[in-house]
Amino acid sequence: MDDKPVNIVWLKKDLRLQDHEAFMAAEQCSIDYLIVYFFEPDLVEAPDIAQRHLRFIYHSLKEMNAFLNTKNRHVEIMNINAVEGFSLLSEHYDIKTIFSHQESGTQRSWNRDKQVKKWCDFNNVLWEEKQRDGIVRGITNRDNWDKQWYGTINQPTFNNQYTTSSLKRANLNLDSTPADFFKNLENYPKRFQPAGEKSAWKYLQSFTNQRGFNYSKHISKPTESRISCGRISPYLAWGNISIKQAFHHIKLHPNYDSNKRAFNGILTRLKWHCHFIQKFEVECRYETECINKGYELLERPHNPDFIAAWKTGKTGYPMVDACMRAVIETGWINFRMRAMLVSFLCHHLDQDWREGVYFLARQFLDYEPGIHYPQFQMQAGTTGINTVRIYNPTKQSYDHDPKGVFIKTWIPELQNVPDTLIHEPHKMTLMEQSLHEAVLNQDYPSPIVNLQENGKKARSKIWGHRKNEVVKQENKRILAMHVRKNKKKKE
Ligand SMILES: Cc1cc2nc3c(=O)[nH]c(=O)nc-3n(C[C@H](O)[C@H](O)[C@H](O)COP(=O)(O)OP(=O)(O)OC[C@H]3O[C@@H](n4cnc5c(N)ncnc54)[C@H](O)[C@@H]3O)c2cc1C
Repeated sequence: MDDKPVNIVWLKKDLRLQDHEAFMAAEQCSIDYLIVYFFEPDLVEAPDIAQRHLRFIYHSLKEMNAFLNTKNRHVEIMNINAVEGFSLLSEHYDIKTIFSHQESGTQRSWNRDKQVKKWCDFNNVLWEEKQRDGIVRGITNRDNWDKQWYGTINQPTFNNQYTTSSLKRANLNLDSTPADFFKNLENYPKRFQPAGEKSAWKYLQSFTNQRGFNYSKHISKPTESRISCGRISPYLAWGNISIKQAFHHIKLHPNYDSNKRAFNGILTRLKWHCHFIQKFEVECRYETECINKGYELLERPHNPDFIAAWKTGKTGYPMVDACMRAVIETGWINFRMRAMLVSFLCHHLDQDWREGVYFLARQFLDYEPGIHYPQFQMQAGTTGINTVRIYNPTKQSYDHDPKGVFIKTWIPELQNVPDTLIHEPHKMTLMEQSLHEAVLNQDYPSPIVNLQENGKKARSKIWGHRKNEVVKQENKRILAMHVRKNKKKKE
């Protein structure tokens, strides 16, 4: 063991070199520091995580290492659970302090953090967790939250400088890593947004330079939004940029004054990002339980065929199917289309939200538990306090993809169907089906449910349940805990 004391920067969902408080703190100490990232088997094998996430992380780390190597530093990337990782490192180094950010994660990451804390206490190691994006730990209501959030976000970003390390790299014995674990992460598919801090800035800059001028106009359009939305979500989720960096960049940009509506629109959403994560920070059971317990009483007839059709983009509703196929292939669709997918599953198909929540988490390259679960439940109508919106996918299709460009991109079976029929191919006559080479139930499925009938049933089911006493009781608790004072009356 090297008897020189060391500190550790433990990277989690903060995979960047700038505006990084943990790095800042480590640099300010007189002791040198190591940097680690753990691909933790307990988390990696959880039902919400997919290979696309691991690749994004791995390539973000590789980019960081390209810079850190010039400072004789590197992120030690290990496939090991955190406590075992720290134990292994402590065989080689005399660890004094661990710096990390504060993670508002799932129950699994909370449990892991508790174990790490225990390990630190037992081994006399200090663990300093830095606040992330204005999310506050330990609060029980939202009084003053907005003011505090702006106070944090308006502070200057950390200008990180890196000194050269004099530490010798220990030879860590990591026999337990499966041979192909890292090999499988090497290839990064082009169909996903590229990982890393540099790409994060490219996306942000191209938004403020031009892409974002039509942000508000195109935000709900499935094709155009791919260009005009920020597309910074994976970078925020894995921490390639911070909320503060994005906020300052947009607010201070020379194009701000001439694009106020669009730019204020995205700035508001950066706040929503934190508002949702704050909910999850306080109650991470959003992942597995109806946040309003009253909705556990609402029965849903489990139908594996419906769920399979939804997951594979074969429901017979072109907009639903195109969105599902697009997200499976590219990891991204816009907000409205995400909401529509959940609405279709939970309302038209009448399935429990838990039947789809992990599936979509695995598809979203920007999977952020703090947004994903509260948003999913909001769209599923299980919070009790939000207006329930049941999206009609056919209407969405006519309104936001009038020429069927998006549909045809993702459903090649409907390639030759004209604009007038593309939104409701089931209305084609046999002659039209044959003429446009899209025969129902052969090339493309007939609708698996009747949209009008099921929409109507769902509306009365979900709204009717609002009168349930447990729902009403829970509403009061949720409003007190998660809603800001000035919003409570409106909800
Ligand atoms: C069921 C469902 C699940 C979702 N899961 C996720 C998720 O796992 N990760 C995720 O980042 N977003 C999630 N969202 C929110 C939203 O759809 C995405 O943030 C957005 O589409 C990302 O694209 P963008 O970066 O171009 O967003 P922009 O419109 O450019 O917005 C900029 C940023 O603001 C934040 N943001 C935007 N819209 C919202 C919103 N409605 N709520 C909270 N934050 C928002 C995101 O961080 C986003 O990157 C989900 C929405 C729904 C309905």
